[in-house]
Amino acid sequence: MSQPRFIVKTAKDAPMKRIRWENGLFLLAVFLFFIILCTPGYGASTSSPLIRVKILKDKSRVEVRATGSYSIRALNLARELSFPSSHSALTIEASQQGIRASGEIWGREVLIRPEGGNSLIRVDSRRYRGQIIVQQKGSLLEVINELPLEEYLWGVIKAEISPAWPRACVLAFTIAARTYALKKLQDSSSRTTGYHVSSEQEDQVYRGVEGEDSLSRERVNQTRGKVLTYLGEIIEAKYHACCGGYSASLGDVWGGEGYPYLVAKPNNFCSKSPYFSWEFKIEAEKLRELLKEKGLILGRLYRIRLLEFDQSRRVKRVEIQHQEGKTELTGTKLRELVGGGDLKSTLFTVERFAADFFFKGRGWGHGVGLCQEGAKVMGEQGYTYEEILEFYYPGTLVEIIY
Ligand SMILES: [Zn+2]
Repeated sequence: MSQPRFIVKTAKDAPMKRIRWENGLFLLAVFLFFIILCTPGYGASTSSPLIRVKILKDKSRVEVRATGSYSIRALNLARELSFPSSHSALTIEASQQGIRASGEIWGREVLIRPEGGNSLIRVDSRRYRGQIIVQQKGSLLEVINELPLEEYLWGVIKAEISPAWPRACVLAFTIAARTYALKKLQDSSSRTTGYHVSSEQEDQVYRGVEGEDSLSRERVNQTRGKVLTYLGEIIEAKYHACCGGYSASLGDVWGGEGYPYLVAKPNNFCSKSPYFSWEFKIEAEKLRELLKEKGLILGRLYRIRLLEFDQSRRVKRVEIQHQEGKTELTGTKLRELVGGGDLKSTLFTVERFAADFFFKGRGWGHGVGLCQEGAKVMGEQGYTYEEILEFYYPGTLVEIIY
């Protein structure tokens, strides 16, 4: 495969900037700046905005303590208590009357804040920067960590990749992760849910202070405030573990028109990755039980037919032939029902041998945007972080927004 050629554009691209100002877009830029300041989650300054991360859900109780003194405050009642650093754990429980802690009822939402400068709040087994919000939803608790976006990223890098991977790859990844989070900050659904991102794989894996090390903090700090934009907007910086040699387009995976910077294209940077190709065998009867557990009731399974593929040869639609007829599913739905850890991607073929189904596939994850395993190899081969980002998000700019 011939080496790709890159046109790298960055915020330091002076001629482009001059043309913009000369065209009178300065007023528009000022306007956008104030729009950004008014967006929920952004602080009233150009420093790192605050992000709310859902760290626990469906809990009947949580234990909270801190490395220094801390306070608990009811958000809708005039009630607040302070605890010294020597205080043993505070148990917060869901009850029919609302949140119960320290022998009192605190309403449906409480805020736990450190009182000392560098104090960290511990929730169950993990320490967190910033403050903790506990909400009672129905009969169970949901726990949210609110902290500056840059400090949130410190706890993401090690959980998603290794900070010890080539510097250019890690820098590219920190920019993608920051961009992903900033896009979520602009999403109005947080007004209903109370958080911007989850700490699990559905967004970016985040492990609080326990997920940090000095190198991950250093790499995040080296790209502070840098994000990817396309036509002046923060992009949807999707990424995944391994594309299996062919990235997928956003539209193919989630429907809609997609974006010109998230397109299907072949590339072999990740071909040596342990996730590049995989096999998964499952007994037909076990697969039927698994689908039944997830609410899909089928008769005895006979065959799985692949009906349609997308541009990257990922499976779009399958037909499951069974005792009672035929059931059609999308490839993504089948993967979700079987489990994304076993059926690692929708880039697969499947055959029936005797009592078993044999899946053979490539890559791990949805395949859209940056391929972590491929970016690692690009870093090893000497590509810069700008080149890595231009390769996976073509046509975008790296800009500094704070
Ligand atoms: Zn790849």
